[in-house]
Amino acid sequence: MSALAPRLRIGQGFDVHPFSPDPSRPLVLGGIVFDGHAGLVGHSDADAVAHAITDALLGAAGLGDIGHHFPDTDPTWKGADSLSLLAAASALVRADGWSIANVDCTVVLEAPKLAPVREAMQDRLGAVVGAPVSVKAKRAEKLGAIGRSEGIACFAVALLVAEAT
Ligand code: MG
Repeated sequence: MSALAPRLRIGQGFDVHPFSPDPSRPLVLGGIVFDGHAGLVGHSDADAVAHAITDALLGAAGLGDIGHHFPDTDPTWKGADSLSLLAAASALVRADGWSIANVDCTVVLEAPKLAPVREAMQDRLGAVVGAPVSVKAKRAEKLGAIGRSEGIACFAVALLVAEAT
């Protein structure tokens, strides 16, 4: 980080994954497993919430994106627990001289309902990121692919504060 760098930086992230036709694939969102619900297609566990937050953090620090650090062509990340990717990205951001102020995200989905696990998801993500993480859910009101329940999307923003030097 240069001496002229701002003390605050914001980053945004987005991710989307389609539902999988494989009934054995679990749905994982924000590190929470939703039993009995169709899972998402992806190289890792397809946790769109963890992926969007990872990109928001990396973007805020100017450290590239999730595909750069954890390429889906690398067998290391096949079936990976995306919380481990999120933890690694959080560590990269801190190693670059930033503390994470907070993260906010909006999950766009028709089902399942997030309300029953929202607090658990926030706690889980907050523990991994090391900062408050808020999670909101929004339906697409039957519009487009998400509205037709073909997948789940997530938007995230992250705020970083420069560590005192
Ligand atoms: Mg993804």
